[in-house]
Amino acid sequence: MLPQEILTEAAALQDELQAIRHDLHRHPETGFDLAYTKPYVRQKLEEMGYAPVDCGKAGLIALAGGKRPGRTILLRADMDALPIAEEAQVDFASLTPGKMHGCGHDMHTAMLLGAARLLKAHEGEIEGTVKLEFQPAEEIFQGSPDMLANGLLENPKVDAAAMLHVIAGVPMPNGMLQVATGGVSAASCEQYHITVRGKGGHGASPHLAVDPITAAAHIHLALQEISARELEGNEFGIFTTGRFAAGEVSNVIPDKAEMWGTIRTTDPGNAVGERIKKRMTEIANGVAAAMRCTAEVEFYDYCPCMYVDPDLGAAALGYMKELLGPAALDLNALTGGKAGGGSEDFSFVSHRVPTVTMFLAAGNADNGYRYAQHHPKVMFDDAVLSQGAAIHTWLALRWLAAHAAPTLDVGGVQSVQELHALLKEKLALPDFYGHNWDAFADAVSGLVQLPEKLRFTGWDKLAARLPKDSAVLKKILTEHYTRTAPDRAPGDCLPGMDV
Ligand SMILES: [Zn+2]
Ligand SMILES: [Zn+2]
Repeated sequence: MLPQEILTEAAALQDELQAIRHDLHRHPETGFDLAYTKPYVRQKLEEMGYAPVDCGKAGLIALAGGKRPGRTILLRADMDALPIAEEAQVDFASLTPGKMHGCGHDMHTAMLLGAARLLKAHEGEIEGTVKLEFQPAEEIFQGSPDMLANGLLENPKVDAAAMLHVIAGVPMPNGMLQVATGGVSAASCEQYHITVRGKGGHGASPHLAVDPITAAAHIHLALQEISARELEGNEFGIFTTGRFAAGEVSNVIPDKAEMWGTIRTTDPGNAVGERIKKRMTEIANGVAAAMRCTAEVEFYDYCPCMYVDPDLGAAALGYMKELLGPAALDLNALTGGKAGGGSEDFSFVSHRVPTVTMFLAAGNADNGYRYAQHHPKVMFDDAVLSQGAAIHTWLALRWLAAHAAPTLDVGGVQSVQELHALLKEKLALPDFYGHNWDAFADAVSGLVQLPEKLRFTGWDKLAARLPKDSAVLKKILTEHYTRTAPDRAPGDCLPGMDV
């Protein structure tokens, strides 16, 4: 199969994908509450011949391929919208007040459905399995961990994972693809909430009250010393209080003051984040006590930094250059390897299996797409939908083909020595086992269980003319048939042997 064929087939889906995207855009839903979106996606997948299964609170998984042995690659689309009122001038605007697909997840869902259709058409050529993940609740960093806790990476076990995010309002032509090629590509994010409690009173009598606003202001300033005096120069750790609230009226001292903010680091182990949290808690408590107040510090909605596997990242860039030519760019080369600020909950997956992230330009600022994701006026250009479907499809097909197991035909084998020689050659192994044939039989029996490492063919031919004196070959064949044909009578499997 050629990349041009995939692009052409994807282009033929453009109208369909656009209709799907507009439908989803009109019906934005947030978090895990995907009452419209999830059944919609399920129905589309079923129409294509998939048997999607539930995963976690509101996720869906569908499998393509699996007809040939091989590895499994996971492709992710998120489905949730944002709790913001749409102000974009589009004729398929949100019909739900206060909610909007402002991050482009409607684009992602449509593109992965397009990939699902292309992969179904090429199912016989997939060298392994493609696991399609439709994920809820990305914006609150809960959908990915929820699906992980509910078996996302099992049955079949996932060997590599990829995600694609659209970006708008960028000075870059539509369809330019940035592939992150290794290392930390996005910072972690964790929310904090500090509640400072004092004692309310009349504004004319501060001596009878305990003012929580003053204490909270001192806490806010004292926290800055963590960044200024406690982090090493080469450590990335920033935190920002983005919301500070207290009181209702000008002449009353309130009972409490509250601060909400986020902590971000690029430390995969999050030791920096843990240190910041420990010191935030100590400083808030200490300063509050000095001001006769109490402080309560809570942390929640942690999302780790995104870690891109260097091998997978480099391979993905190569496949994308095959597909898109010079429109495929190395994100690390553009950024000098510096992590971006925005966080993404697919990072939970990136800490479990090799992962790559890609960003597709879907709205050139020069062509009127002036706003970025999360802005109420953001617009995304539908024109890239079919390209997104092709990107997912080509990445999966190419990675699986490149990691397909070699095939070994054992049909002509006459003796255990011959099988040994064949395996040595195919797996480039040294002269192993020193003719300890029992150990050899165990090793081959182990390989039989791992079709993703080596694919055997010709067992029946070998069984039909098995030398009667080869106990080792018999042992290997018995193991093979026990696994692959447990219902067949032993005599049927090994006609040449007394079994
Ligand atoms: Zn977002
Ligand atoms: Zn997003």
